[in-house]
Amino acid sequence: MNILVIGGAGYVGSHTVRLLVRAGHNVTVYDNLSRGHRACVPEGRLVEGELSDRAKLTAVLVEKKIDAVMHFAAFALVGESVAHPAMYYQNNVTATLELLEAMRASGVWRIVFSSTTATYGQPEKIPITETTLQLPINPYGFTKLAIEHALTDYARAYGFGAAALRYFNAAGASPDGDIGEDHDPESHLIPIVLQTALGQRERIGIFGDDYETPDGTCIRDYIHVDDLADAHERAMNLLEPGTNIQVNLGTGKGHSVLEVIEACRQVSGHPIPTTVEARRPGDPAQLVADSSLAQRLLGWTPKYESIDAIVKSAWKWHKSHPRGYAS
Ligand code: UDP
Repeated sequence: MNILVIGGAGYVGSHTVRLLVRAGHNVTVYDNLSRGHRACVPEGRLVEGELSDRAKLTAVLVEKKIDAVMHFAAFALVGESVAHPAMYYQNNVTATLELLEAMRASGVWRIVFSSTTATYGQPEKIPITETTLQLPINPYGFTKLAIEHALTDYARAYGFGAAALRYFNAAGASPDGDIGEDHDPESHLIPIVLQTALGQRERIGIFGDDYETPDGTCIRDYIHVDDLADAHERAMNLLEPGTNIQVNLGTGKGHSVLEVIEACRQVSGHPIPTTVEARRPGDPAQLVADSSLAQRLLGWTPKYESIDAIVKSAWKWHKSHPRGYAS
C-alpha cells in the first residue's frame, strides 16, 4: 500500500515506518520536525510540512496516491498540556481535523490513529478494558478522546475506516540499536533512568512512594515500540469503509517505578542512585491494559513480554547514542 505516516520522524512513528518499509509498503513521511528527527527517516521519504496545512496535505495525498494514513503527529506530554492547553487543542484537535478534511477531499478513507491510556483518566478498575469509562483528567487526554469521537462520526457519516490504538507506556528501541527514544527535554521514566546509568544525571527522582501499590510507587504497563508498530500494520489491514475500532495496546503486566529501576540496574550493571520526590500531579497509581480485544481483533500479541527485554533494547540505543540522534 501507499502509506502516509504523519509524524513518522517521531518515536513510535519512526519505528512503524521501519516496519512498514520492511513489509514492502511504499511509505511517505510527513513531519514538521518540531519534535521529530530527520536522521530516523529513511532517505528520500520525508515531506516537511505542517499538520494544519490542509492544502499541502491534500496535494501529498493525491500526488502519492495514498491508500492509508497513520497519524502520530501530536503533542503528548500531560504536564505540558496542563500548562499550554491552547497548543494541545490547536495541534491535536484543530490541525488533526484539517488532516481529516484533506483525506475527505482526496478520497483517502483509511486511518490508524495514535490514542492513549490518558483517555481513561483515573480508572477505578484494573486491568483497563475498552469499555472502561473514558474520563480524561488533563487536556492531553481530552484532545485524544475528541479525535476518537471524530473518527467514529467520520466512519459512520463518510465511510472512513478508522482504528484508534490506545497505547499504554511506549518503551524500548529497535533491537539493532539504530533508532530509539530521543525527546528534548526527556521526561519518560526508562530514558531518564538509563541516562542516569550513563552518568548523564546524578540520580533518578521517584515521583511518590506512598501510592496504594505493593511498593508504594506507580505501576505502568510498558509496551515495546516495535510491538506498537506491528499493531499499526495489522489494524491498517483490517480497515474497510465504515470500520471503527478502538483497542488497548499493552502487555497486561504492570511494573512499578522501583521494578523498572531495578531492571535497568540489572541490564546496565550500574547502581543508579535514586531519590524520592513529591508525587507528579495527575499520575494515577496504576494503569495496566487488558489487551485481549487487540489480540482477538488484530491477531496481535506483544513479542517483548518482559520488562528486561524492553529495557535491554533501550539500553542498546542509549549506549550507542548517548546524545540521541545528535550523537
Ligand atoms: N516517573 C518517575 N520519575 C521520573 C519520570 C517518571 O518516577 O523522572 C514515573 C511517573 O510518575 C510514572 C512512571 O514513572 O509513574 C512513568 O512515567 P512516564 O513519564 O514515563 O510515562 P506516563 O505514565 O506519564 O505516560
